[in-house]
Amino acid sequence: MRRAIFGGSFDPVHKGHVSLASELQKALRLDEVIVMPTGISPFKKDMKRRPAGGADRLEMCRLAFADMPFVTVSNYEVSQGGVSYTVDTVRHFHGLYPDDELFLLVGGDMLMSFDRWKNWQEILSMCGLAAVSRQTDGADTENLEKKAAELRKFGEVIFVKTEPLEISSTEIREKIIKNCDLSCYVPQNVVKYILENNLYRE
Ligand code: ATP
Ligand code: MG
Repeated sequence: MRRAIFGGSFDPVHKGHVSLASELQKALRLDEVIVMPTGISPFKKDMKRRPAGGADRLEMCRLAFADMPFVTVSNYEVSQGGVSYTVDTVRHFHGLYPDDELFLLVGGDMLMSFDRWKNWQEILSMCGLAAVSRQTDGADTENLEKKAAELRKFGEVIFVKTEPLEISSTEIREKIIKNCDLSCYVPQNVVKYILENNLYRE
């Protein structure tokens, strides 16, 4: 089996996430993509509060990826509680499926900071890293390719050129507060969930 872990806050999940999963599934011929909402991200632990809890983020991911049969949404990190480190999650799945090909899927910002993650070299010894750009103008392509080449000394690193969607959860949370229409950025069933549950409002 060719399997990948796609981690993030998904706070909320948006069309950029859906597109990343779908493009990298095709490019890497993945049998399964495990979508993994974090407990508390090491990069965001200083945020004053989590805008949405684990249960809501899990449910929004289930809705967003409902029509992608190769996606499994995992509660592994949310149910561990506390700060999630990717290395611990990769160790867990590497141990579960020792004979399978494992990948980690990331956007360009995460590729650029990857060599500052906890035990990143160990991560690359257990799985391949696959990344796409988040910038539509292609301005970061050269930097991403350079970073991928640097990291390749330590393992398999793949940069896949796609048609990026320039969206972030941060921008979406701001749009919700301003009552903007979200349908361009967020799958319709997730928009409905956000409104019905009054998420990100105050
Ligand atoms: P925030 O603004 O809260 O950081 P985000 O939009 O960056 O939210 P995350 O949950 O932080 O979303 O990201 C999870 C993963 O998805 C990361 O690897 C990130 O690089 C990637 N990603 C997020 N948005 C996009 C996008 N528009 N295109 C491609 N990858 C993306
Ligand atoms: Mg982010």
